[in-house]
Amino acid sequence: MIVIKTKRDIEMMRQAGIIVADTLDKLRDLVKPGVTTQALDRFAENYITDQGARPAFKGYNGFPASVCASINEEVVHGIPGQRRLKEGDIIGLDLGAILNGWVGDSAITVPIGEIDPELKRLLEVTEESLYRGIAEARVGARLGNISHAIQSYVEAAGFSVVRQYVGHGIGRNMHEDPPVPNYGRSDHGPILAEGMTLAIEPMVNAGGYEVLVKPDNWTVVTKDGSYSAHFEHTVAITSTEPVILTRK
Ligand code: MG
Ligand code: MG
Repeated sequence: MIVIKTKRDIEMMRQAGIIVADTLDKLRDLVKPGVTTQALDRFAENYITDQGARPAFKGYNGFPASVCASINEEVVHGIPGQRRLKEGDIIGLDLGAILNGWVGDSAITVPIGEIDPELKRLLEVTEESLYRGIAEARVGARLGNISHAIQSYVEAAGFSVVRQYVGHGIGRNMHEDPPVPNYGRSDHGPILAEGMTLAIEPMVNAGGYEVLVKPDNWTVVTKDGSYSAHFEHTVAITSTEPVILTRK
């Protein structure tokens, strides 16, 4: 069942979303060679807590941290630890915050120092595909329009979209209906209505779309070892333009 939010609900979600946006902005500045992913996680947890919110990921299905930190061929759900970032890496940072019972969820992928130009293109295409998907989040359109906009843009650029993990409705729960795939046909799926709130989150691989879960039971990696990027925003469908709730 898709839970429709009132304008006031959406305003509450925006307040959670702004905390997520601020946290990601600060993490982006902290990301540099030599920094451990655990240091990033600690910073994020403290910052979110200092704003009066709660990290949404910590303890979610047993996830042990506040940030998912996914490096290079890691797609999503990387567990922060002692690994140090090095020049030329890319890191996906995905996090959520709960404020007054409402959840915001967003992700960015950040280069560490100078990266290979083809890797830079992977990040640009993935981020742009997110905005192309968001642009389709309009009253009366089908959910498949979002999925198709993402997939067609990514594949035209020569990359692939992950099938096994998808975006989601969001609100009082981090994961609500409907699932929001990053692949699919336009004019299929639920009709979008005012008050729907969606976490749209393309996961894009430089190589094939297949993924595996590592023995830690969390970290998702590309099957072929190619690098992967991930961008996400929480978005509200309104009577006019789609509104990004995880941006200031
Ligand atoms: Mg997320
Ligand atoms: Mg999400």
